[in-house]
Amino acid sequence: MIEFNHVFKSYTANQPILEDISFKVNAGEFVFVAGPSGAGKSTLLKLVAGLEACTQGTIEVNGQRLDQISARAKPYLRRAVGVILQDTHLLYDRTAIENVMLPLAVIAQPRSIAMSRARAALQKVGLADKERTNPLALSGGEQQRLAIARAIVNRPALLIADEPTANLDRDTARRVMTVFRDFNQVGVTTLVATHDETLMQEFAHRVLIIERGQFQDFPVRRQAQL
Ligand code: ADP
Repeated sequence: MIEFNHVFKSYTANQPILEDISFKVNAGEFVFVAGPSGAGKSTLLKLVAGLEACTQGTIEVNGQRLDQISARAKPYLRRAVGVILQDTHLLYDRTAIENVMLPLAVIAQPRSIAMSRARAALQKVGLADKERTNPLALSGGEQQRLAIARAIVNRPALLIADEPTANLDRDTARRVMTVFRDFNQVGVTTLVATHDETLMQEFAHRVLIIERGQFQDFPVRRQAQL
């Protein structure tokens, strides 16, 4: 599903952020990306999402080399990957359901179909009763779940989230992480950046750790016990 081969990334000359990173994530895996602040977790996720290009090496996502992808294939790849960035980019002049419908409007889905798929997505993240609510009136955890609903409404094969539980209290963080686990259990490959050691223990999966541009890959930890 994801394959990095000797990937280097720098934003400015002589300042490598990631150095010689190689790893594979198989379809259906749940992987945490960990490491101290500034280590390059967001950068790694942006490379996977195709929002940044690597400086050297090759990246393959969903069977496509990102540097070789044709303009025609790009929208398909975008739909195959659901992305939740640190800034959720919710639109505060629209209701919750309208936010979730946006990715479907972009691909010109008829409104009635978009509405029913957005409703199903809201239901999956436990926000069925909030569809007419403005995101500003939602709590932090609810806003994260709304961002997840928007990311999964196109039924992506891969879900990427950057620190989705930052600024959330423990119970809310667990609830958000449970939503990711539920999607993973129905086959969605999931990559989550976090520095929350407790959540990593609890939701126990493979952990990729980045430190000073370098990389360690830990196998699956103990099974989640909720
Ligand atoms: P993390 O997510 O682990 O906190 P980031 O990937 O956000 O780490 O950042 C890694 C390093 O790259 C930091 O030193 C950061 O300042 C730098 N960086 C991130 N994005 C950019 C950018 N667009 N331009 C220049 N430097 C950047």
